[in-house]
Amino acid sequence: METATTNIKFSDFELELKKYAKENNVPIIFDEGLCFLETIIRLHKPRRILEIGTAIGYSAIRMNKCVGSEIYTIERNPDMYKLALENVAKVGKQDEIHIIFKDALEAFEDVKDLEFDLIFIDAAKAQYTKFFDLYTPLLSQRGVVVCDNMLFHGLVMDDEHYMTYSRSVRGLIRKLHNFHEALLSNENYDTTIFPIGDGMAVSIKR
Ligand code: SAH
Ligand code: MG
Repeated sequence: METATTNIKFSDFELELKKYAKENNVPIIFDEGLCFLETIIRLHKPRRILEIGTAIGYSAIRMNKCVGSEIYTIERNPDMYKLALENVAKVGKQDEIHIIFKDALEAFEDVKDLEFDLIFIDAAKAQYTKFFDLYTPLLSQRGVVVCDNMLFHGLVMDDEHYMTYSRSVRGLIRKLHNFHEALLSNENYDTTIFPIGDGMAVSIKR
């Protein structure tokens, strides 16, 4: 934990997932970001959550646990999908956590008839604008969008070193920066980007 103090606890199984993620470089949500996200969930009490970017199912399992929200989560990597399925089965939550094995840009059909009270965007950063535009029409009234990794390890705000990064990293930074601008100028949402974890944007539908 960086700066937050919390009494939020992890089960032995969740600690195992965290250990696995660390050892295998799976970018699961930071503790501090998770505390923030869970606080939002406890306050907002979403009946249904859409997550983009399942990885091993860690955040899905934690989000479900807060107030029993039904989770739809999308993952395109076959190895991650397989692990997520196993992990969700291990906690016996197959009926509440639905994992969709697809690229999120191609999964709209799978969820288009559902309404979501919260959308958590935590996948390929270059595509955040596309994810946001594709899935926010499914948000309920006063729905909330949370976007993780908005600061991309501090690189987004770091003008000074911008030119020292590779072209591909610069491309990513530029895309995330454009997404920042688009989010903040979107008049349908009240948005704040918090410097929590790796940067978390919270956008609340007006
Ligand atoms: N939410 C997870 C971490 C997700 S890491 C947690 O905190 O526990 C990001 C995941 O998004 C990776 O597993 C990656 O394979 C997946 N991903 C990236 N781009 C995607 C896309 N376009 N569609 C579906 N999954 C994607
Ligand atoms: Mg993340």
